[in-house]
Amino acid sequence: MSQLVDSFGRKITYFRVSITDRCNYRCIYCQPEKEFEFIPHEEILRYEEIVEIIEEAVNLGVTKVRITGGEPLVRKGVVNFIKKLREIKKLEDISLTTNGFFLSEYAEKLKEAGLNRVNISLDSLQEEKYKKITRGGSLEKALKGIDSALKAGLLPIKINTVLIRGINDDEVEDFVRLALERPLNIRFIEFMPSGEEVINEFEDKFISVQEIKEKLIKKYLLNSIKISTANGPAKYYQIKGGRGTIGFITALSQHFCKTCNRIRLTSEGKLRPCLFSNKEIDIKKAIRDLVRDKKSEGFLRKKIIRDKIIEAVMLKPKGHKLNIKNQENLSFHMSRIGG
Ligand code: SAM
Repeated sequence: MSQLVDSFGRKITYFRVSITDRCNYRCIYCQPEKEFEFIPHEEILRYEEIVEIIEEAVNLGVTKVRITGGEPLVRKGVVNFIKKLREIKKLEDISLTTNGFFLSEYAEKLKEAGLNRVNISLDSLQEEKYKKITRGGSLEKALKGIDSALKAGLLPIKINTVLIRGINDDEVEDFVRLALERPLNIRFIEFMPSGEEVINEFEDKFISVQEIKEKLIKKYLLNSIKISTANGPAKYYQIKGGRGTIGFITALSQHFCKTCNRIRLTSEGKLRPCLFSNKEIDIKKAIRDLVRDKKSEGFLRKKIIRDKIIEAVMLKPKGHKLNIKNQENLSFHMSRIGG
């Protein structure tokens, strides 16, 4: 039973943890093109610190953890880190979000370490366009990564496709075909206002998933279904005759704040109760101050971590007011916070 209930009665059971702000890609909707200042290494949470925080979150009732970044597979020691997480008894589900570049190398090892499943970002099925969106990425490597994840049994595999008008919305049916042919859950995600290049023309580039859905309904028979690991914001549909599913995430056009069950831990050690609010709780400082004061023994240390988690949960706003026209005071890069 989760002890993490926020001021609006929502039970918090899901932690999203960014283990690095570094990424081998610089997707146009995620990072600025100009040199990006990375967080210095010593300011990034150490694996032991992350494990400690997750342990206490699980003691408070968290059952699901997603590892993200930046690109989580660029951080050394990630397999061992997953092994440590697997040792946390009441943690039911460990998943990871990746761009897939290193997945052919890591899929088996991650599965063995105890990772349950992966989400893979894939915004185009055309090599040149993929390269342009990711600023230099390799579609071939991402597709190989998907094959390896299937082979390793990191299931169900969810594919994250951020739709941007005029850039990849012409490929929606190609993605639908992919879901017809392969056992993949393709999720069309509404583009959110982050990343300087596209944000300047946000209204023109934004495309609601409702618009996409209406087009698809005319052509395909979509049956609404529930998938076992999906109690998040996506709505899934099986296409008649298909092996996979398609899903829609309406981050902007229809808020899913009412059912939000998550908080985030950023790579620099801040608990972030809501992606769209800049309010954060500095849990790293609390832990490191304890070490300096030598008051870090057992019970007190655990209690301080738990108190910080509870403080962050109580800070969770009722909802965000963001929409296509209103992107008030928002400054975030997903690579830093963890998407
Ligand atoms: N590097 C990994 C990857 O590529 O999946 C994990 C980090 S990435 C920030 C996590 C997810 O955030 C990706 O699926 C990405 O598509 C999504 N994302 C980043 N910026 C976004 C934006 N502006 N709008 C919608 N989704 C975004």
